[in-house]
Amino acid sequence: MRKSKFLLLPVLAILACSKDPILEDDKSETQLNPEEINDQLTEVAYPNQIGPVLEVYYGGQRIPVESQEGNYVYQGDILIPVNQTSKSAQSLILDSDEAAQKSTGRIRGMWPKNTVYYAIDNNLQDKYRVYDAIDHFEANTTLKFVQRSGESNYIYFTSGSGCSSYVGMIGGRQNITLASACTTGNAIHEIGHAVGLWHEQSRVDRNSYIDVNFENVRSGTEHNFHTYETSGFDGDEFTSSLDFGSIMMYSPYSFSKNGEPTITKLDGSTYKVQRSGLSSGDIRGINAMYPGDGGEPTYVNGKYYTISGVTVLRANDLWYFWTKYGFKRVELRNNRWYWV
Ligand SMILES: [Zn+2]
Repeated sequence: MRKSKFLLLPVLAILACSKDPILEDDKSETQLNPEEINDQLTEVAYPNQIGPVLEVYYGGQRIPVESQEGNYVYQGDILIPVNQTSKSAQSLILDSDEAAQKSTGRIRGMWPKNTVYYAIDNNLQDKYRVYDAIDHFEANTTLKFVQRSGESNYIYFTSGSGCSSYVGMIGGRQNITLASACTTGNAIHEIGHAVGLWHEQSRVDRNSYIDVNFENVRSGTEHNFHTYETSGFDGDEFTSSLDFGSIMMYSPYSFSKNGEPTITKLDGSTYKVQRSGLSSGDIRGINAMYPGDGGEPTYVNGKYYTISGVTVLRANDLWYFWTKYGFKRVELRNNRWYWV
């Protein structure tokens, strides 16, 4: 079935050029709809641009990034700090060990004491988008947002060509860009990244919930549907299943070249994406990452955790990493693991 769709593409392209609606029988509910294709619900850092794709290592993971104006962009709107990447796996000491690669590094760059510092560029239009998004986070999560007064790690809300953010606290000033088309909902999505969330459709278990229809994906943007699993990493999610209502879920038409859905449910149907606020699953996930009192997370002896891309065992209030010679002690410093 996918194959036949693929063969029809040249016809669809011609129809699209002639501005006629797509008349294929079974496509009535997915007709070419410019609003859906240039979907404001799908955040992108550099709309209408495609940069060269390269593979880099970041936090122990090998990921495809698009190089755009000196930035590395992952999955559309996620900025990867260039100076924290490497071309080879060697710079992270635990990368070479097979076991070290079994993680998503989802707990990376947590904001200490549940407190996110921020500043807003004076020139940013419609600042209410930022204030409303922050109010939404404070009303629904354990996070606090405080205007920066000299703190070195902070989010800087500024304008840009699209909507974009880094994932987690990366150290120093980190931009969230909000072009004029970015809504308050998009701002909530970008803050979601900045506090540590990745995209819902990149969950390691996503193939149990969705199909990615690569035959509909615009050439050069396939890497946006990368999952941790494609790089050989296990998942480590804070919620138990894929949440179609998550504000971190991309739309069924993301990066479509032909108005056909790129993401469908397993039964082939599309789903409604929302950018009005955090879903209950988002809130559960964030509050699990940032437990109530804002203190350091409590680690239970005898349990495994995945932190900064490495799966480690907590024992005697210390950290241990499994090697072929047995458990070796390790220590986390500045988001990187070192042998002790
Ligand atoms: Zn995003």
